[in-house]
Amino acid sequence: MACPWHKFCPLRKFEEEGKISSQWRKEYCDTRDNWKNCKRYQMEENGEPHSVYMLPDGTLQKKINKK
Ligand code: SF4
Repeated sequence: MACPWHKFCPLRKFEEEGKISSQWRKEYCDTRDNWKNCKRYQMEENGEPHSVYMLPDGTLQKKINKK
């Protein structure tokens, strides 16, 4: 089962726009259960605010420019 946030996660759009690698999706979002280790997922589940630019490992993607 993929991550429950898969369709709604802002990282989908960044990937479509070529701003982040598809590797993040393959290593986390699409996996059977590695999505549980995603920082975004964990913070979302705990209701903790987090940056839209945060990657699954908790680092911030600095190359994504705000529009
Ligand atoms: S980045 Fe994290 S929260 Fe977003 S879809 Fe992937 S695993 Fe889920």
